[in-house]
Parts: sequence; structure tokens; C-alpha cells
Amino acid sequence: MHRKITRRDFVNGVAVTAGAAMMPWRLFASDSANPENAPDNPPARTGMRGSHPGSFEAAHSLRDGTFWDSAGKPKDSGETYDLIVVGGGISGLAAAHYYRKAAGEKARVLILDNHDDFGGHAKRNEFRVNPAFRLGFGGTFAIESPAPYSAVAQAFIEELGIDVSSYPKYVAKHLYRSHGLRPKIFFDKETFGVDKLVVNPNPRGGGESEDAGAETPELLKKFLLEAPLAEQAKRDLQRLYNEPKDYFPGLSSDEKKAKLARISYAKFLTDVAGVHPDIVKMYQALPHPLFGLGIDAVAAQDAWGFDLPGFDGLKLDPTPGKGMNRDAIPNEEAEKYFFHFPDGNASIARLLVRKLIPGVIPGNSARDVVLAKANYAKLDQSTEPVRIRLNSTAVRVKHLGDASSAKEVEVTYAKGGKVYTTRAKNAVLACWHVVIPYICEELPDPQKEALASAQKVPLLYTNVAIRDWKSFEKLGTNSVYAPGMYHTFVNLDLPVSIGGYECARKPEEPIVMHMMKAACHPGLPARQQHTFGRIELYTTTFETMERNIRDQLARTLGPGGFDAARDIAAITVNRWPHGYAYEYNSLYDSFWLAGGETPCEVARKTYGRIAIANADAGAYAYTDEAINQAYRAVTELTKRS
Ligand SMILES: Cc1cc2nc3c(=O)[nH]c(=O)nc-3n(C[C@H](O)[C@H](O)[C@H](O)COP(=O)(O)OP(=O)(O)OC[C@H]3O[C@@H](n4cnc5c(N)ncnc54)[C@H](O)[C@@H]3O)c2cc1C
Repeated sequence: MHRKITRRDFVNGVAVTAGAAMMPWRLFASDSANPENAPDNPPARTGMRGSHPGSFEAAHSLRDGTFWDSAGKPKDSGETYDLIVVGGGISGLAAAHYYRKAAGEKARVLILDNHDDFGGHAKRNEFRVNPAFRLGFGGTFAIESPAPYSAVAQAFIEELGIDVSSYPKYVAKHLYRSHGLRPKIFFDKETFGVDKLVVNPNPRGGGESEDAGAETPELLKKFLLEAPLAEQAKRDLQRLYNEPKDYFPGLSSDEKKAKLARISYAKFLTDVAGVHPDIVKMYQALPHPLFGLGIDAVAAQDAWGFDLPGFDGLKLDPTPGKGMNRDAIPNEEAEKYFFHFPDGNASIARLLVRKLIPGVIPGNSARDVVLAKANYAKLDQSTEPVRIRLNSTAVRVKHLGDASSAKEVEVTYAKGGKVYTTRAKNAVLACWHVVIPYICEELPDPQKEALASAQKVPLLYTNVAIRDWKSFEKLGTNSVYAPGMYHTFVNLDLPVSIGGYECARKPEEPIVMHMMKAACHPGLPARQQHTFGRIELYTTTFETMERNIRDQLARTLGPGGFDAARDIAAITVNRWPHGYAYEYNSLYDSFWLAGGETPCEVARKTYGRIAIANADAGAYAYTDEAINQAYRAVTELTKRS
């Protein structure tokens, strides 16, 4: 554990983050987070990625009211466009695409994004582990959504040339199972008294490692024998699974669901089902990948939707209850619509960029895009109708004149320590909703309030490139749930080979391991947990994160022969303090239970020549919503002009 850390990106991760709050934004303004780190190819940069140093300081300074103190007078770029899009995520790129469809291919579009790479959350991580080339997803994992893709979003995916139904051709579905690997739970000594890796009795199908395997009585027996849980907890677990009980006799199914919508699953387990607290500790982190929250902040009604134990005896009718989260409502059609590229939905972003600016990424299919190298120097050329300007934070968006009659919008942005203005006929704000009230002050107050109420879910998506996965093989696992650890999920890469890219098939080969952390603060209301989690992620140094990763891997995989100093080839922490769009939660959002207009509907109203997109506009943390909202925003703009 104490051997030298060779791949630490110290300047990137430590010095900059720790002192950033006190320093003027201009000091951090550069065209790259760390120029020595893969200068022409941002996806190959390692260390602190996601919200990387250099990407957020201008926006935070605007939030803190200090930006204009040192900004100076903006320089007029002299550029004019038909459309300026703020935000180069899938929603912003899709908005550019739809605008050109409506206004013609010659329409001039500028896309601004504050990061050194395009795609927003849909980011690609690349690794070279002698001699293997490995890809990982830095954010958006896959084409998947709890509800079916809309006709608009499906048509969009097809237009990009992605044949979702062909996915089984590319995935080695039974790879890990053929090596005898299966999902396990890591119990840690701080939470459960001892470090122990035990078979998971209730593995979930699909997901990042595929092929979870079936739940069998033998598995549960083995688990109960080995798990470091109190004896009472083990009896309670068996009771939950095998002795269904109606905890609310005399109530109708709807009345029971209404009750479940208002208590957390943690409270249901302890106060209603009366189980030992060890059971709560074990389930606590299970919803992290979906909500970035633990079961203390997830409604029991949603836990019922996820098929967690304890509800069989209630005999609830299967229709969704009022206030259920869309993630918790099973939908067979949606489950079948799944496609994972080795770099996740970064491939969607790359296909879009190829469509918008053909010279940037060579090739012509959704398969060859996987290995194609992007030429970042071609993103922003005056000869092209569409330009993508990275490392550029929009700091002010306003109509030139009254919103009802203005002919133009002016967008001011900070880039490389300087501030510029540029003009367009229309603007789409495809950026995070919490940012919009700071950059577009002219919006009506109720709309700004609704925009500001859109929380973001803070997450870490960490990719660790390792030289082989022999330790996983020895321990018999490909996927570890670790409820008490820093990262609560550790998964070997989902084995997909496509377009000439070959995934690792043998334990001796290098592979990318994906680790996930939700920065939640159990016990607080959801929105507060996210606020504290965001501060935590911005103020934790990369060095600390790396130390935690090495410690966790040593403890989990050490008994299988893993040696962090020898086996880790590279670490990329994709830090997303502004991660998933906040989805409404029946425990905390009374309007969600009551029905009626939701804050996101108020927030996304088009104002003059300024329309609002982003997944936040649908309060739904999925790619299809980013597309749906781009389509709506552009339709509203083009209808009026
Ligand atoms: C870690 C993670 C994993 C996910 N996994 C999945 C998945 O598997 N499947 C799925 O369907 N969905 C997934 N999602 C959700 C999905 O990624 C999003 O719904 C979708 O990508 C959002 O796209 P967007 O364009 O709306 O927003 P974003 O991708 O967030 O893009 C908005 C962009 O605007 C930029 N911006 C903000 N302010 C400014 C400014 N002032 N100036 C310039 N630029 C600005 C932001 O930095 C960002 O780059 C995941 C999300 C996260 C965070």
C-alpha cells in the first residue's frame, strides 16, 4: 500500500482542487487540464477527469458573484451564428443536429462546452496497457432506460446507424460464467467486523458485468453460512424471503402503496418488518447506481418495484403506485432495448460529432467509430458550418433587446482566461439547469427558481486499468458489491468486441475494472445529501481517492493475489459532482405525489429566442431524455421563427 504511486496526477488532482475556492477563476483557465497528459487526445488523459480542473472554476466564480471582478471587458469575437448551443453533451449535440434538420445543413451553429472533451456525461476513457488497447466508459454506460425510448429517440439512434437489436452479436454474455465467476458481496471490517468476500445470494441480471446468474436456495444457504452478519439478522433475512407477512392488514392495495411511498425502505425494514440493523447495512448501498442514494432515502414503494425482499405478503396489485420512480417500474419492452459500446454512450456523442463535422472522426458506421481517432484540432474551424468550442464556459446569455421582439441573442463565454461575446439568432441552453439562473438573468423569477431546484446527483465513475484479472478468477468473482466501502460497486468490464475492438477474454489479459461511488450522506433528505456529496467530491484530492482505491482493491482482491503497485496500470477517476439529473422522490417531493405541473416543466419553458434542453428538463437521468428534450427545445424555437 505504501509503495510509490507512479501515475498520480498531482497538480491535476491535489493542489488545484484544494485551493480552487479561494483563487480567481482565470488562474485555472487553460485549454487543457494537464497539457502533458495526452495533449491531442483527451480520452487518453488519466487522473482526475469528468469535472476536471480547469472546467468549473469560471462557473463557480459566477455563482459566487466574483466572476466579473476580474473578467475585464468582453472582446467581441465578431462571429455570428444561426444557433448557439450551451453544453456539448448529447442534448446539446442533438439540438445542433435537429436545428440543422429544420433550418438546413448550411445553418451555422456554435456549441460551447466548459470541458476539454465533448459528450458531457457521455465520456470515453482510453488506456494502453502494453500492448493492449482498452476502452472504458467515463460516464454514460449504455443505451438503456427504464421506460421505452420515445419514437423520436429511437429514430435518432437509428439515424446514427446503431442497430440496437444486433447487440447480442458483440457481447460475450457468458464469458465470466465460463470462468466460474459470479457476483459477490464484500463485507468490510469497519461495518461488519471482518473483511470477507461472500457469494451474493440475490444477484441482479444485466448490468455492467452481465450474466449475474440465477438465485438458488443453495446460494442463500451458502451465503447464510459465510456472511459475517448477526445470527438474528440471518434469521430475519430468511423470514423476509420465505415467510411472507401482511404488515398492513385491512388496508387496500392502493392504501398500502400510499404508505410505502412515504417511508424509506430502511425504515420499512426496521420499523415495519422489524429486522436486525445488519440487514439495513447490507442493503444500504444497493440503489447507489440508480439514484446515488442509499435505502435510507429510497421509498419502500420503489424498493417493492425493484423486487427487494419484504413485500410478498402485502399482495400488492402489480400496477405502479402513485409517486413511484420511473426506474422502479418494471417494463419488459424497455429492458430489451439495450446496447453497450466499450466506451459507453461516448460512441453516440462521437457519431453525432461525425455527423455535425464530418472531418473530425473518420469512418462511416456505428461499428468503425469505436476505434476511430478523433482529430480535436478540427472541432472549431471557421470553414465549417458547425463548430464545437471546448474549454469555453458560457457566462451570460441575453437577448439584444426585449425578449418578445429581439432579433438576436448575445452569448458571452470565458475561454483561456479571456472573455468573448458572440451573437446568434437563437440559443439552446443544453447545460445543467442549476447553472442557467446565473447565466441568463433575464428569465422570469419563477422559472429561475424552478431551474435552481434541479439537483444533480454526485458520483464517481472510476476506471482502473489492470494488467490481468487473475485475482478475480482466483476469487471466483467478476462483480463485487461492497456496501461499506468507498466505491460500493466494482465490476470487470462488460465484455464487448465491436468494430475491430477486442475485449479481454483471458484472465492473463489487461482489462478495465469499473468502480462506482455515490457521494451520499445517509440520514439527510435526498437533496441535502447531494449538496454535501457535491462539496465532498470537489474537495477530495485525487491523491486521497487513489489511496482509497488502492486500499479497497488490496483488501478485496489481495487474497486472490492482487498487488496494487504491480497490477494497476492506470487510474482515471471520472468525477461527476453534477452527475445524474435529479429524479423526483416520493419521500421528499410532495408535488410528485400530488400530481400537476412539475418544476422541470416550469424550468424548460422557451423564453423569446432562448430554449432550454438537457436531461434536467425532463428530470430523468437517461440519454433518451437528453435527446427528447433537445428535440422539444429546437421544435419550439423553429416553430416561432
Ligand atoms: C455517471 C453517469 C452515468 C450515466 N449512465 C447512463 C446510462 O448508462 N444510460 C443512460 O441512458 N444515461 C446515463 N446517464 C445519464 C445520461 O448520461 C444523461 O442523461 C445524458 O448524457 C445527459 O446529457 P445532457 O446533454 O442533457 O447533459 P450533460 O451530458 O451533462 O451535458 C451538459 C454539458 O453542458 C456543460 N455545461 C454546463 N454549464 C455550462 C456552461 N455554462 N457553459 C458551457 N457548458 C456548460 C456541462 O459541463 C456538460 O458538458 C448517466 C449519467 C452519469 C452522470
